[in-house]
Amino acid sequence: MTFIRSVLGDVPPSALGVTNSHEHVLIASGLILKLEPDFRLDSIEKGIEELCDFHSKGGRALVEASPIGAGRDPDGLRSISAATGVTIISATGFHKTKYYLDSHWRFRYSADEIARLFIEEIEIGIEKSGYEGPFIRRSEARAGIIKVASDYQVMDLATRTAFQAAAIAHAQTGAPVLTHTEMGTMAIAQLETLAALGIDSKHVVLSHMDRNPDLHLHKEVAQTGAFLEYDGPGRVKYFPESTLIGLIRGMVEAGLGGQILLGGDTARRSYWKAYGGGPGVAYILEHFTDRMRCDGFSQQQIDDILIHNPARAFVFAKVGT
Ligand SMILES: [Zn+2]
Repeated sequence: MTFIRSVLGDVPPSALGVTNSHEHVLIASGLILKLEPDFRLDSIEKGIEELCDFHSKGGRALVEASPIGAGRDPDGLRSISAATGVTIISATGFHKTKYYLDSHWRFRYSADEIARLFIEEIEIGIEKSGYEGPFIRRSEARAGIIKVASDYQVMDLATRTAFQAAAIAHAQTGAPVLTHTEMGTMAIAQLETLAALGIDSKHVVLSHMDRNPDLHLHKEVAQTGAFLEYDGPGRVKYFPESTLIGLIRGMVEAGLGGQILLGGDTARRSYWKAYGGGPGVAYILEHFTDRMRCDGFSQQQIDDILIHNPARAFVFAKVGT
């Protein structure tokens, strides 16, 4: 049977419901917070408050895209999921290299060794310290995606090692791969790298693609079978929502609406209502879907992007087929 792996257990794809496909709920530790203090999302209570709001607007699931060493709190995610009824999919894998000290083990271990650590987080449980040791202490939460990231216009050696490890872990577990693209760059390079390592693009989600709202490129990416995640709603410092609406329309008109996902990626205190900021995790459901309706999208098209596409994107592949 096909399944999606959440921090509280496996769920059938049909049970996922309205999904925010790239989000951050807890970022409680790590170099990432020294580099960017506004990323600190360390309150379980505020996590519950924000996700209750998301749930009250119809949200039923979200993908928590914080990987190893980037502040994950798997037990905290379990508490928030249990308290709010929002299904949370958590990540193993790595963020971009700048979020890790030069001394981090990711720069010393081989792809095979790193893959083993990813696989154990998918199959047994997420290591609570991100393998910073010396003891292994696993959460009951298991990872449901493998995150990898490239930087602006480059994939350095450590990044390529992470992609290799992700491919090995995907082949063994079937867990889908979710990538970070920096400003939407390196999308084709990421897909080519993963395809060369044996991953079918239909198990790959490329995040932040709307930072480069280039319809030609997006069609090329979608035609591989990969999913494109857009997280521009409410973040008009990058571009107006009219740009995003035009991009989604172009994709739908090209028959590629089945490859689009929407996320919030509200990974800042200043983006959360519970911390006194905005637009909040619920923004997509509170405002952006109304905007889509005003601009002529049908409920079916909206449901595809929020319900049916995530149910395909985050399903585990059958292993060995
Ligand atoms: Zn993110």
